[in-house]
Amino acid sequence: MPQQFGTFTASELYCPKCQRAQPVRERLLLILPSGELYEFSCASCGMSLGKRTVSGPTVAPPQKARSARPGRGRLLTTHV
Ligand SMILES: [Zn+2]
Repeated sequence: MPQQFGTFTASELYCPKCQRAQPVRERLLLILPSGELYEFSCASCGMSLGKRTVSGPTVAPPQKARSARPGRGRLLTTHV
């Protein structure tokens, strides 16, 4: 299959520093409530070439996230 930018699983991106398309490294930047933010950097020079947000629980499976109740172990004493 030729290059497909719809789903955007980039294996190569144009690097302005190398002035050519380079293979990219995918690095997890942030874990957001809406998904995970990945950064693409040039495998050759390490320059940041772009970011991608992957939505959906890829790290935490749904059944595991269910047993860990958020807010239960958290104790916020706002009243003094
Ligand atoms: Zn580069």
